[in-house]
Amino acid sequence: MTVKQNLARIQQEIDAACQRVGREKNSVKIIAVTKYVSDERAKEALEAGISHIGENRAEEGARKWHVLNGNGTWHFIGTLQSRKVKEMIEIFDYIHSLDRLSLAKEIQKRASKIVKCFIQVNVSGEDSKHGLQPSQLIEFVTALSQFSFIEVVGLMTMAPNEEDPEATRPNFRKLKDLQKEVQALKLPYAPCEELSMGMSNDFHIAIEEGATFVRIGTSLVGKEM
Ligand SMILES: *Cc1c(COP(=O)(O)O)cnc(C)c1O
Repeated sequence: MTVKQNLARIQQEIDAACQRVGREKNSVKIIAVTKYVSDERAKEALEAGISHIGENRAEEGARKWHVLNGNGTWHFIGTLQSRKVKEMIEIFDYIHSLDRLSLAKEIQKRASKIVKCFIQVNVSGEDSKHGLQPSQLIEFVTALSQFSFIEVVGLMTMAPNEEDPEATRPNFRKLKDLQKEVQALKLPYAPCEELSMGMSNDFHIAIEEGATFVRIGTSLVGKEM
């Protein structure tokens, strides 16, 4: 399947999910996760009209960015090591994995402009997942006030990979509730208007629960180099 064909199908599913819950269909943006695929396939995604690209590894992401001449809006969705911060914030427009103060400190030290960040929250509580515990979130957001180059644009979560995507719904709902808590703080540096949640198998559920960015790899661009 071409990316264009996959995109048409996915866009239909997005529109249907929006309709089910009375949302505007353009309130959901698709991030094409290109970590599994070739440069050509990533280029095909941009040519199909997708403007958001997601990569989860620093070296590979930087390499693809250069090959594609920095076209599009780039999202870093993987675990970010402090020593990679300088390079990554120059290339990527959004960081989806802010989850510790040491990382915030490093971003502050290296940044020369505002860095748009999602705070990653481990809502499911699985040991294998990165991110803050929900109970740590408010204290963490408040502590970010000392870092003038960090803007908290939203929250991000990785849901457990369930056989039945419906089983992930409570995780998405929880992230939405946490977003409301952050928004209630009315912190100027944390508008927190975005929710980055939902992947190939569960994006329709995430959208019903309020996702504004869905991160789709396998079912959009595929899974082989
Ligand atoms: C790989 C990845 C995705 C995309 O997963 P698919 O199931 O292939 O759609 C989304 N988010 C993150 C953080 C990822 O690492």
